[in-house]
Amino acid sequence: MIYRTYGRTGKKVSAVGFGGMQFDTGKPMEQNAELLLYAYEKGINIFDTAPRYCQDQSEDIFGIALKQMARQRDKWYVCDKGMPDENETSDKARASVETSLRRLKVDKIDFYYIWCVRKMGHYETAMKPGGQYEGLLRCREEGLIDHIVLSTHLRGDRISWILQEQKVEGVLMGINILNFPYRWEGVETAHRLGYGVAAMNPLSGGLIPRYEKELKFLAGQQETPTEAALRFCISCPQITVTFNGFTTKKHIDMAWAAAERSKPFSPADLERLKKHLSENMNELCTGCGYCLKDCPQHIPISAYMMYYNEKLIARRSDEKMIRAMDDYLFWGTLAEREATAAHCTECGNCEEACTQHLNIIERLAQMAQWEKEAERIRYKG
Ligand code: SF4
Ligand code: SF4
Repeated sequence: MIYRTYGRTGKKVSAVGFGGMQFDTGKPMEQNAELLLYAYEKGINIFDTAPRYCQDQSEDIFGIALKQMARQRDKWYVCDKGMPDENETSDKARASVETSLRRLKVDKIDFYYIWCVRKMGHYETAMKPGGQYEGLLRCREEGLIDHIVLSTHLRGDRISWILQEQKVEGVLMGINILNFPYRWEGVETAHRLGYGVAAMNPLSGGLIPRYEKELKFLAGQQETPTEAALRFCISCPQITVTFNGFTTKKHIDMAWAAAERSKPFSPADLERLKKHLSENMNELCTGCGYCLKDCPQHIPISAYMMYYNEKLIARRSDEKMIRAMDDYLFWGTLAEREATAAHCTECGNCEEACTQHLNIIERLAQMAQWEKEAERIRYKG
């Protein structure tokens, strides 16, 4: 395992981090907690969770494992999070930290994230007088947290702007082999200022394993695109730690192996990748689901957008998309939809919330046409 220093904090963290957002919630919590213990044995020493992850089980699963690891408390780090608009006063921010401490069964959270900053307005909410940031400063003084950090889905230049305010000590962002040009400026600024950089979503929401054939160009010799994607983040010297969401021990082994191989992509490799990554490749839906909450029409937006990904990745014609859509509409992820793409009222809520800043309305309009055509073909036959 490679270990890197998390910016100016001086903490040595493993290049592979444990992301607690992919537990199999059908399993008993004790069984999921064993995954943390297994990861710790493998040399992973940083663990990341948040309230509500995995049907709100994640923090409690962490608590079960961290209690068993308590005797070695100086050898591992735990990260947790709170959203600015749910913690709009400093008292609320403090109360959230206390709740997380109780659930995690620890006395201190090492890295606490101002969570899910998708718009500059979220950051402003966190920083307003009497707001979340003030509450977190208080928690830091009281020893309840060690470092205040930022978790964001903003573009690279905006991340850069926030970091230059020098209020946080590190940044967590969705960066991977497919979207790195979109956020790279943020990585470089953090690195230059001496802040830690944590990467999340290294496999682009499962997209890379699903489209290995089409994404073959990502891989070097004797590796799969999935392995290349893990290697890309884990071996990148500017990225301190890459959080992988683990569901099985096999997933942990795969990330561990990527860290063992650890051959960074050369500047020539990066240029080759950039060439292949057309603008469209930066516009993939990661399936994060943040757009769903405020859709007044209850459209399964992410299911539609994940389908649209296939057009971008496989460069399918509209005709092929219409033909393949039949499967999705009747048997696939869209089969249980309460509302269709055609019900979109163009209110814009989803585009505001979208972590990838996608033109959802335009895509839905196109898919509404495909859907109509797919149904026409089906019922004609
Ligand atoms: S723009 Fe359409 S899809 Fe997006 S939230 Fe509004 S109704 Fe839903
Ligand atoms: S459309 Fe945007 S917010 Fe919704 S799932 Fe995809 S990336 Fe996430």
